Formats: sequence, structure tokens, C-alpha cells
Amino acid sequence: MTRPEVRAALGVDIAPWDFDFRDVYAGVRDRLLRIAGGVPGEHAALPLPGCGHFITEAAIRSFIPPGGRLLIPMTGSYSDRMIRLTREAGREPVAMPITAMETISPDAVAAALEQDQSITHVGLVQSETGSGVVHDADAIGAVVRVHGRRMIVDAVSAFGALPMDMSAHPEIDAAVFTANKCLEALPGIGYAIVRIDRLEQCSGLAGSWSFDLADIYAQVVRSGDGRPRFTPPAQIVNALNTALDFFDLEGGRVARLTRYTANMRTLYDGMIRLGVTPYVRPEHQGPIIVNVRAPADPAWNLQRFVDALKSRGVLISNFYSTPTPGFRVGCIGAISPTDMAGAVAAMDQALNDIGVNNRAGETQ
Ligand SMILES: *Cc1c(COP(=O)(O)O)cnc(C)c1O
Repeated sequence: MTRPEVRAALGVDIAPWDFDFRDVYAGVRDRLLRIAGGVPGEHAALPLPGCGHFITEAAIRSFIPPGGRLLIPMTGSYSDRMIRLTREAGREPVAMPITAMETISPDAVAAALEQDQSITHVGLVQSETGSGVVHDADAIGAVVRVHGRRMIVDAVSAFGALPMDMSAHPEIDAAVFTANKCLEALPGIGYAIVRIDRLEQCSGLAGSWSFDLADIYAQVVRSGDGRPRFTPPAQIVNALNTALDFFDLEGGRVARLTRYTANMRTLYDGMIRLGVTPYVRPEHQGPIIVNVRAPADPAWNLQRFVDALKSRGVLISNFYSTPTPGFRVGCIGAISPTDMAGAVAAMDQALNDIGVNNRAGETQ
């Protein structure tokens, strides 16, 4: 997932409160704001230590009043997680059934919003890791805007590769992501790109000091850009700063998307060649992650497959996030199509190692 230079940045001895660290802390926020197409003074990039669920919860709490209704297109396992985060925060998720194997139709979102005027927000998972399908945040945002509603985007597995232009999307209250997906840094911190005017209007809604984006922003205003609210994961932020150097060197978001798309092509075509069954049809397959159906062979065992692959130098998730059993392979991280071709060859061998002969997926 990461370059050695990024991991080396973890080893730098930094005190989180030290003045020398403040420029890095503030600088990373500025760099992320630029990548998001944010307008300084209009948008802010706000950090929250922790994983993606934390920053998603913070966005839900900070922008939706208790009891408020969030329409969530059911894209897959990560929309399920947003539904649970919403409910447990005391907001009301409105689950919108869709064909999760395809890109959401903006018209369907429009119809749902017209039908239920009590919905204030739409919560969209831009890249659904649980399927591999990428949803059109631009088109759905346009619909949300026309209908006078607000939007929260889970861009966790999208940001840094897929388009996000906050300046063109005033309907987006927050787009959230973490350091460890397409930015190719380490887990430990999430960021929300937010509209400042909306955050000021929404101040006091969160019902949680820890997860209150308005309070994180208030701290910035009070104490200056570089002063963290609570103890930040300083080494993780330092590593992210190094990862952003490589992001720039590569040519930014478009170059990164091009590389990930080439990785995905190599992987997807390789899966077809190996005789396994990708979960998503080629025309709906996004560039971030390929999910594959479990081979129908009785010898199939995910952990054994993962172990066999690992012994060949390739590591994939030892869990699946599709509704039916399978395995998942990320196209993101500090890897090239050549690395991916090596991974495909290793998968071919690993399937043989564990005795899988019938590689095609169970028919659903
Ligand atoms: C990875 C991911 C998250 C966050 O997961 P954490 O384990 O909490 O970091 C959220 N949404 C999507 C789409 C993801 O891929």
C-alpha cells in the first residue's frame, strides 16, 4: 500500500505539540483542501484521528440535526455501515434500494427526494468497496442541489483518485476520507472537507465533543491553523505529508486514477483468464477494488487462499465485503500494473496450491 519513504517518515521523532510540527500539520490540511477543489475561506480540511468510520460519524453528527433524515442509496456494505452510524447517532437513515451492482441512477435519487420532503440530506458512498462499483457523485450532487437538499459523501476509498471538486458542489456539506486508501499513507487519521458557512450554521448539533467537526474548526479559528485540538497522530500526519509529495510527483489525482485503472484492467482481465468470476460486470467495474466470487469448488477456503498467496509475497484481505462469499483485491496503493500481473500469476498458483479445480463462482 505504501512506499518505503512513507513508512520511513513514521520513524521521525516528533512531539505532537512541538512548534516544528505545526507547519506540517497545517500544510497537510492545505494540500488536502487543494486536492478536493476547496476554496480557502469557503471550505476547510478538518482532521480527526481514527479510522474512516470515525470521520463519517463526525460528518453525520456535525451536519444533521438529531432526528434528521438522511437518504442513503444502498450501494453495499459501506452504505450499510453509514446506515448504522446514522441510526446509532440518533439520526434517521432512509435506506434507498438500488441495483447495487450498477451505478446509481440520479433520476431515482431525484424521485426519492421528491417523494419525501422530510429528507434533508443524501449520504453517498462514492466508491463502494463492498461491490467495486463507483457512483457518480457529480451527477447525484447536481440532483441534490436542484432539490435543495444537502449531501455527505463517503469518499474514503475514492479521495485522491476519483474526481472531487468541492468548489463546484455547494450542496456537499462534507466529503470524508482517510490517509490510508488512495492517498497511499498509513491508517490513523481521517479528514473531512467541509463548507465553513454550513459548519457555522450547524454548530452545536453533534452531541459528542470528540466527533464535533464544528468544534475542530472552532479550535482552528481560536488557536491558528497548526495547533491540534487533542493529541494528533503526529507520525501518521508526517507520513501523509511525504505520501502527498509522491502524489504530486506522480502528477496528482488524474495520473493516480490512470495508474489504478491500469491496475484494475490487469487484475480484472487476469481474473477472467484464470477462470474465476468477478462480482461486478466489466461495464460497471470501478478502478478501486475488484471483488471476486468464491470458486464453487469444495476445496475453496478464503484463509487458506490468503495464506497461500501470502507465502508467494502477495497479501489480500482475509475477509470479504460482498453479500455472497468471495475475495477482494485492491487496485490502489503503491503498485503498478506489473506488480498486479505478478499478483495474478501468484493467485493462479495459490488456487492450485489449495486444490481448487473448479474456479468459476457459484451462480447466484
Ligand atoms: C475503508 C472504507 C471506510 C472506512 O473504513 P475504516 O475501517 O473505518 O477505516 C469507509 N467507507 C469506505 C467506502 C471504505 O472503503
